[in-house]
Amino acid sequence: IAEVDGTAASGGVHAFLHVDAEGALAQARAADERRAAGSPASALDGVPIAVKDVLATEGLPTTCGSRILEGWIPPYDATVVARLRRAGLPILGKTNMDEFAMGSSTEHSAYGPTRNPWDLDRIPGGSGGGSAAAVAAFEAPLAIGTDTGGSIRQPGAVTGTVGVKPTYGGVSRYGLVALANSLDQAGPVTRTVLDSALLHEVIGGHDPLDSTSIDQPLPPLVDAARRGATGDLTGVRVGVVRELGGEGYQPGVLSRFQESVDLMVKAGAEVVEVSCPHFVHALAAYYLILPAEASSNLAKFDAMRYGRRVLPDGADNPSAEQVMRASRDAGFGDEVKRRIILGTYALSSGYYDAYYGQAQKVRTLISRDFAAAFEKADVLVSPTAPTTAFKLGEKLDDPIAMYLNDLATIPANLAGVPGISVPSGLADEDGLPAGVQVLAPALADDRLYRVGAALE
Ligand code: GLN
Repeated sequence: IAEVDGTAASGGVHAFLHVDAEGALAQARAADERRAAGSPASALDGVPIAVKDVLATEGLPTTCGSRILEGWIPPYDATVVARLRRAGLPILGKTNMDEFAMGSSTEHSAYGPTRNPWDLDRIPGGSGGGSAAAVAAFEAPLAIGTDTGGSIRQPGAVTGTVGVKPTYGGVSRYGLVALANSLDQAGPVTRTVLDSALLHEVIGGHDPLDSTSIDQPLPPLVDAARRGATGDLTGVRVGVVRELGGEGYQPGVLSRFQESVDLMVKAGAEVVEVSCPHFVHALAAYYLILPAEASSNLAKFDAMRYGRRVLPDGADNPSAEQVMRASRDAGFGDEVKRRIILGTYALSSGYYDAYYGQAQKVRTLISRDFAAAFEKADVLVSPTAPTTAFKLGEKLDDPIAMYLNDLATIPANLAGVPGISVPSGLADEDGLPAGVQVLAPALADDRLYRVGAALE
């Protein structure tokens, strides 16, 4: 894999930051033996998987795409990783990502970007571009991503893969290096909806190590995917979200979306238009709440407790503060620094109510919009991302243009509801993949799989 995957500089896809060929082979051999003995550990026993580098993996480097964690080898597994191992999935390696999962293009990785296998001059989405590109390039049949504002679904859309953000609390966050604790969720990145359901059943469910984990069994996801695959959506009420479409969306993305809606009508679904008037403020609220939580989370990387230590130039006997300053300056990239500054400002006394407090109120209004919409519809649908994959470098100097790519995915994170992105076809203007997003009420992840499988 490492050879095929290459480096960004050599023009390769560069989906992986670390490949564990030996470890994966040993795990695959053990799986072969279990299968030969007729006792596989799970339906996915022996199926290799790639894991986003934000999840702690015992004995394998975990960098979060950052220099500050260069060389760190965790002494423990994230719960998601422990469950993958228990189910017998060989871990191929760790995938590239925007530093600390901040970004929509994987260009903010400290280790060079990942390229989109459909067109190597284009981005694979982000922050989990490595996981999506690994699956799209057939370097891994399955991958794990994390989605704080769209980082599983948007890369899924622009690489023509399936990506699922489970209900908040549905998959353990233990061992997931937090970007924004109240928004983060790990989930599947795969080529088919059924694969995502199988993987979701392996990683999901209650974990006492995560205080936000929901203590309730998962709904039957694989059954729902099989049911959806029959192509019958009779009795399903689908709400098209008026605010997620139209202006700012690429025409070819909108036409593929309209075809998905037509397909649902043909499958017997009842399609209605719904309005979620506060969604237009979701992006603004998110870019206060996320930096606030991130600035607090990243404070621990001070080179004393966590993080690589860099000594300041020219100081013979540097103070702790000088070491922290030099380490954080060298260890964090520009986007991380930008968000630390934003978040610290939003949380500072005198501004807290005006920014952080206000954003939390908007968050409540968005949850209410969802609640009202889910009275009229069982699932909501929209394009996953407003555009297909853009060119590397195109939005690097314009953070707001980069942020706008997530305007359709962010509301689900703010409300904690689950979402899936399923390929909807290739846009006419550039022949690149687009995605359709299906959202369901919290705990109703099975609906994503039923409707998602009917859309394949
Ligand atoms: N692109 C969004 C951001 O930069 C989402 C990131 C994510 O989901 N991890 O914050």
